[in-house]
Amino acid sequence: MIISVASGKGGTGKTTISVNMALALGRGVELLDCDVEEPNAHLFLKPKIERSEKVEVPIPLVDLDKCTFCKKCSDICRFNALAVVGKKVLVFQELCHSCGGCMVVCPEGAITETGRELGFLNFGARDGIGFINGRLRVGEAMSPPLIKQVRAAANPRLITIIDAPPGTSCPVIAAMNGADFILMVTEPTPFGLHDLKLAVEAVRLLGIPCGLVINRADIGDRKVFDYAEKENLPILLTIPFDRRIAEAYSQGKNIVEEFPEWRQCFTELFRKIEAIINERGGAHA
Ligand code: SF4
Ligand code: SF4
Repeated sequence: MIISVASGKGGTGKTTISVNMALALGRGVELLDCDVEEPNAHLFLKPKIERSEKVEVPIPLVDLDKCTFCKKCSDICRFNALAVVGKKVLVFQELCHSCGGCMVVCPEGAITETGRELGFLNFGARDGIGFINGRLRVGEAMSPPLIKQVRAAANPRLITIIDAPPGTSCPVIAAMNGADFILMVTEPTPFGLHDLKLAVEAVRLLGIPCGLVINRADIGDRKVFDYAEKENLPILLTIPFDRRIAEAYSQGKNIVEEFPEWRQCFTELFRKIEAIINERGGAHA
């Protein structure tokens, strides 16, 4: 079962929800931090990191001794990652999407693959909870391939909880695509509602069931609640603004550990998600 925890905007408490649900469920769960530009779930889960792996993506390497400068490679590249200029073939590594098209069309077999470093995967665990995060190389702009690598490394026998990046663009889609359920974390403010609407539109395009956690539920107004009702989005958990929770968060502490009465709430949150997934025919095999 794959549950992706997302939010239209940053700062809604998405990581808090992901980590606390993982802690409430315990053994048998794997938490994936797919916010590869700013991974921070490890600061709260505090796993023991056991190993790291470098992640590379393939990019073309041109052998100028074989090249006839026919431009077939640059013509097919829709990302403008190749340019044939006189007797040179320029490769703009950051633009390459590793589709391999240039290699296929080169009539001279002049293009082979080399690797470009994207970042790292870190693997660890805490109290039987598996943990993987991705960390994008500083200066690297292309996060979806690294997010896909984090997801590919997940153990399919475990319940996967994904801490997705914020927003509604390609990295979020990479973290939500193929999930059994999207848990959208929001807050009842005009900004929260605006970004929630965009995020829900993206989820609907993916055709994945979705439910809400409303954090700091007693600040702001009722418009998020009204929107949820109108759009038939189940509100699965509300967390009131509580100074003690905010203080615990600021110290890297977790709700279910500091306030044991919340453990049951996060277990029930999972049970509600599980029931919705089962109603729709169960999790992906
Ligand atoms: S397709 Fe091959 S031969 Fe033609 S310009 Fe590109 S690398 Fe050179
Ligand atoms: S692998 Fe694809 S994206 Fe990269 S340079 Fe070749 S054609 Fe362009």
